[in-house]
Amino acid sequence: MLRRVLLIAPHGSYRTVPFLNAAKRQNLDVLIASEGQYSLVSEYAQGLHINLDDIPTALARIALVAQQQPFCGVVGTDDASVELTDQVAAHLALPHNSPGAARIARRKDLARACLQAAGVHVPWFHIVDLTQSLGAQLEAVTFPCVAKPVALSASRGVIRANNHKELIEACIRIQRILSRIKNVEEQERILIEGFIPGVEIAIEGLLRQGELEILAIFDKPDPLDGPYFEETYYITPSRLSPSVQAQAKQEVAAACRAYGLREGPIHAECRVNAAGVWILEVAARTIGGLCGQLLRFGTGYTLEELVLMHATQQLTRPMVIEGAAGVLMIPIPQAGILKRVEGLGAAERVPGVQEINIQVREGYELIPLPEGASYLGFIFAQGESPQEVEAALRAAHAQLRIVVSPLWKTRLA
Ligand code: ADP
Repeated sequence: MLRRVLLIAPHGSYRTVPFLNAAKRQNLDVLIASEGQYSLVSEYAQGLHINLDDIPTALARIALVAQQQPFCGVVGTDDASVELTDQVAAHLALPHNSPGAARIARRKDLARACLQAAGVHVPWFHIVDLTQSLGAQLEAVTFPCVAKPVALSASRGVIRANNHKELIEACIRIQRILSRIKNVEEQERILIEGFIPGVEIAIEGLLRQGELEILAIFDKPDPLDGPYFEETYYITPSRLSPSVQAQAKQEVAAACRAYGLREGPIHAECRVNAAGVWILEVAARTIGGLCGQLLRFGTGYTLEELVLMHATQQLTRPMVIEGAAGVLMIPIPQAGILKRVEGLGAAERVPGVQEINIQVREGYELIPLPEGASYLGFIFAQGESPQEVEAALRAAHAQLRIVVSPLWKTRLA
């Protein structure tokens, strides 16, 4: 009989397909609990309709289903589903985090307060209440600073401000972005914090009984100085010194302990400068999207497979990625309608390039940061060294010509 896992995913998550593929390779049956209006039933995965904003009802529904046919593991794909996932895992006596940990990890304002209280290295921060006038609330802010929503991801709404005027403009712009989200508390707050100069790294890890295993540390070789912070190159292994990498692991492990995270994947973003390693965020999920396949180049398993193996208690040994691999999340060159992407063949032929995946279809709108939330596409490369991988990604990107036509929006009076 097939063993069955529960995948809890927000509607339209771009992490669902990598997890479904991983489950297939692991010979696991899948039930997807999601808030999508249309059933996700396919020959492979069954669907269960839930409301992620109503955790008690969703939990009760899932518990009922589990009584009829048990799950051997549960995985939350995105920030929006990790809180429910943890409660389900606790209810079913599967590996889970301390109560409230997933919520802290998801909420940047709660996370900052938690880390500060635990003595973890974080910048100064201040929470702005958008229902009150901004003036007095921004008086004590020093510059440069970064303003950001408390619960969005992929750098959406994250804006650097170098002076008071830029900060006010940033807050107004973020408020507009927040007007489209459902959660009132998250709609009414902005986190403002000190800008941390330095290089940036991302860390993929897996927590097992409170112990953090590092799966990969990615360098982000392009400067990320704002005003917006588009994710571009992720290259592993890191070229930082072993002692800095060890310090990064220590800081991330301290952050996980402070939040109460004990089980499952974590994705951390850190800055490194002369003062040490600073936590930007530790999320209780995978890097996501297609980037999980980078681990496969080293371990033979995608990140999603490793997460499923852990969730179903089948992961017996730590996995270390060998060799060098990297991804370029292709930057959106300008706002408008994607007409076509030229040069794909030449880019694919660059030695070291493994795959190019364009996510946005022709005719669809491209929205750059800070408002945008989708990726244009990904270029994956593999090589002997991180330098070789970076060179391959840059050469492939140079072959691409992304043709965008302007979009004229008319507003009816
Ligand atoms: P998200 O969860 O949307 O990715 P983050 O808080 O991780 O939001 O910020 C996104 C990016 O913005 C980071 O990867 C980093 O490049 C930049 N950033 C965020 N906060 C700071 C900060 N305090 N100092 C410097 N850069 C920052």
